[in-house]
Amino acid sequence: MKTFNLNRTILFLAAFLTVSMLKAADARSVIGLLDLTRPGLDKVAGYYNAGNDSLATVALLDYYRHRTGVKSIGVDPDNPQLTDRERKWADDGLEHKFYVHEGYQPSYFYGENIDWQYWPVKDNELRWQLHRTKWWVPMGKTYRVTGDEKYAREWVAQYRDWILKNPLTEFKEIKDKAMEDVDNVYFAWRPLEVGDRLEHQIEQFALFLPSEHFTPEFLIEFLDNYHRHAEFVNSHYSAEGNHLLFEAQRIIFAGTYFPEFRMAADWRKAGVDILNREIGKQVYPDGVHYELDPRYHPATIDIFAKALDMLDSNGYKNVFPPEYVGTLCKMIEFNYNIMFPDYSMPMFSDGKKVGKSSTMPRYISWLDISPSDGALKYFASEGEKGLLPVYASRAFENGGFYILRNGWDPQATVMILKAGPAGEWHNQYDNGTFELWSKGRNFFPDSGSFIYGGDEEVLSQRNWFRQTAVHNTLTLDNKTLENRVSNLKKWETNPDMDLLVVETPGYKGLTHRRAVFFVDKKFYVIADEAYGDAVGDVAIHYQLLSCDPLENTVNKSVTTAFADNNNMTIRVFGADRMSAEEGWTSPDYRVKNSRPAYAFSSGKKSDETARFITVIYPVETKNPLSPKISADYKGKFSVDGSSLEVTVDGKKYKLGYRL
Ligand code: MG
Repeated sequence: MKTFNLNRTILFLAAFLTVSMLKAADARSVIGLLDLTRPGLDKVAGYYNAGNDSLATVALLDYYRHRTGVKSIGVDPDNPQLTDRERKWADDGLEHKFYVHEGYQPSYFYGENIDWQYWPVKDNELRWQLHRTKWWVPMGKTYRVTGDEKYAREWVAQYRDWILKNPLTEFKEIKDKAMEDVDNVYFAWRPLEVGDRLEHQIEQFALFLPSEHFTPEFLIEFLDNYHRHAEFVNSHYSAEGNHLLFEAQRIIFAGTYFPEFRMAADWRKAGVDILNREIGKQVYPDGVHYELDPRYHPATIDIFAKALDMLDSNGYKNVFPPEYVGTLCKMIEFNYNIMFPDYSMPMFSDGKKVGKSSTMPRYISWLDISPSDGALKYFASEGEKGLLPVYASRAFENGGFYILRNGWDPQATVMILKAGPAGEWHNQYDNGTFELWSKGRNFFPDSGSFIYGGDEEVLSQRNWFRQTAVHNTLTLDNKTLENRVSNLKKWETNPDMDLLVVETPGYKGLTHRRAVFFVDKKFYVIADEAYGDAVGDVAIHYQLLSCDPLENTVNKSVTTAFADNNNMTIRVFGADRMSAEEGWTSPDYRVKNSRPAYAFSSGKKSDETARFITVIYPVETKNPLSPKISADYKGKFSVDGSSLEVTVDGKKYKLGYRL
């Protein structure tokens, strides 16, 4: 019996020693990642060098709790602003109902014993974004606001659970494999998600640091996990695009907020080098970001600006050259040019409906970058300060955005037309399309994007919104463009007329030339000519806002019928047929509204040129007979230019251009 007890005691002691040694080894290796010669770390260094890792860990937590001189530009931990929605995400988070994605509300329940692989809808975003743990910062804010330790206790538990169930193992970027068959590590450790956690775990760290649940042992686990994240990002940058920018910005954050890590300077340098290189590659000379997406464009400005701000706020001055700031200023200028007077932006590419609530705070924050931009000042203050641009219409020909506007005020009429280079992944096959806003109403909102990627069902929903035919442009046999590179042929802007001519050789044997005249800066005439030896059905498509318009298939017109006397009539000449089409517009993720859409089409033989003229005319009543419009080309098609005559209520307009 005594022998048994002795054996048990020896076994217990051995187990205790093993665990203690393991823990000690962890603390030893993690503290070993730090540069202990830094000011303030002398106590930690003393214990550590004497081999007392437990006391070194306690001293390290004390150091972080009293550290000064390092600033985060995110949440202010001592004065967090907690919204009602964030409070709900925090409380739901306690019950494992995780706020993962705005498009999937109410939030799903991930189990008492959290299942980090739960995938209720096979949308890749739902699986990826779980690992951005968006409810953790709100839990931290709620902890600070309420002082209730249960939020900190739960965060620590979930943080540890995540580490345990999402180990970093070898994986390759997936190409051909179906996403359902991909290992969990691909979702949990996609560099974009890892970078996201690098940024937001800074805020979580600062918010939860005073908690009794933030123990010395937990600090070691946190730093170990954080370092693994940073090293992973630093060796797995995405090849290109906004993902790469996000990763670079966030590795800068890691190297700036945790300068104690020996690798911190390397991380900062890597991030700065990438951003310096990519701002030259990803931004065209006119300031347009190459995704050609009005949602990613400002998000990209934010990335570049946040990196600059984080470094600058922590004393790393003049890390970026003046050209970096110069490019940011141009990007900002483009941003307010493709904005409608109500601060909304077109929903081209993967855009969504955005307005003042998201645009204004951005303009205010960008004032630090471009303080001498009077127009930015104007938009950031809603006209209280600064000055409007001295120009109205403007071309951004590298990015292929053309703004034909008659003013900046709420009574203005503004067309934003998109016909540029191939761009990148988010860009759609929509060359020639436009949005048109007049006096507070967007008459032609883009179809948007609805959803990103996923299984076949999810992808087919996404692809509907990416079709050329669901945009305000021309198709051959309703097919999506084979080539999405447009060429600018002519751009002129005068006080009484704008003229734009762009050309898209969109299909084998068919080139679409679109000329837009902003006549008297009052109404638009669009001359579409499709030439080449292709044979088939050529159609121009128009997609209206959700409404109940008046249609006339005989004279091929459609007129909105709003009671507030702000209406638009569209009249098409040269088409054999007018037909209604399926129409949707998606203002937000997985939200779509039915809307009227039309095709105006003609059959084309190999030796013919399909020629259409569209007049888009703002009308103050909902009377479909007013105004009386006619239009025709003068002369045969020529690649050198076109002449046309348009009559509105008896007034003749001779329009044309020569190349
Ligand atoms: Mg679109």
